[in-house]
Amino acid sequence: SEWLIYSTWWVGDNVSNLMQSVGASEKVFNLMDLSPSTQFIAKGVKLQSITGHIEFVNVSFHYPSRSTVSVVQHVNFVVHPSEVVAIVGLSGSGKSTLVNLLLRLYEPTSGQILIDGVPLKDLDVKWWRERVGFVGQEPKLFRMDISSNIRYGCTRDVTQEDIEWAAKQAYAHDFISALPNGYETLVDDDLLSGGQKQRIAIARAILRDPKILILDEATSALDAESEHNVKGVLRSVRSDSASRRSVIVIAHRLSTIQAADRIVVMDRGQIVENGSHRELLLKDGLYARLTRKQADAMA
Ligand code: ATP
Repeated sequence: SEWLIYSTWWVGDNVSNLMQSVGASEKVFNLMDLSPSTQFIAKGVKLQSITGHIEFVNVSFHYPSRSTVSVVQHVNFVVHPSEVVAIVGLSGSGKSTLVNLLLRLYEPTSGQILIDGVPLKDLDVKWWRERVGFVGQEPKLFRMDISSNIRYGCTRDVTQEDIEWAAKQAYAHDFISALPNGYETLVDDDLLSGGQKQRIAIARAILRDPKILILDEATSALDAESEHNVKGVLRSVRSDSASRRSVIVIAHRLSTIQAADRIVVMDRGQIVENGSHRELLLKDGLYARLTRKQADAMA
């Protein structure tokens, strides 16, 4: 069935994470909705290389199970190579849906997504997903040692040194080294905090050296730690100029992403603002309002 196909894809766990996180916020997530994507499996073009240039061109979308509700409407935006772009907006505004479209879990109802100028729908879906690292809100770890958890799903040969490099990038190396058996420690139910799990998942994504990294910041009780993790990753992505990856962050805490190159603000399926933190504050629109509201809530 479709579900089996998805579980064999390494980020398959993240699909179930998407489902979990969607379920957690009591949204309808219908397994049937996943079926349209299967028609793309193992077809399409593999590009020699990509720079990480992403363009949404007039993208609209409604979920197959709710054909009357347009979730994304006429969305246009560009992510330049190596740029860090944050997507913000109230719950239900369509942020995760944009990522679902980019991961090609769904096809836009109209408009298109271009990757280095090539329509995403023409690309080989497996090849494409190998180039995208996705870290969901509740990443799944396995009962294996930490190294194996980081290596999980990586198709190229990696050394222990590579694993530790990825862990350092994800700010996970220090706490791993402090464990009794270091990288050989077995991951058990209570061993790690939510934030530590997230850091291991980030290391797992980075080890694959994706051209495009997508982070969905946790909304739950892990907030503060997750914010710290996401900020850390943004710092390491910036300082590691050799990696040159584009990063998309779905942010729930606006304080996380002030340093993003650009912030895209979603409201009821549409992009209403697009600019840097400073530009958007000056604009004094929805982003400025949300920022003030969060600052008040935390004061
Ligand atoms: P949050 O911050 O709560 O994660 P979001 O901005 O990411 O919200 P989406 O998850 O993209 O918003 O949801 C946009 C709209 O699409 C919502 O009305 C939601 O109920 C609906 N929706 C999301 N996933 C599905 C699905 N699989 N099937 C049908 N409708 C869905």
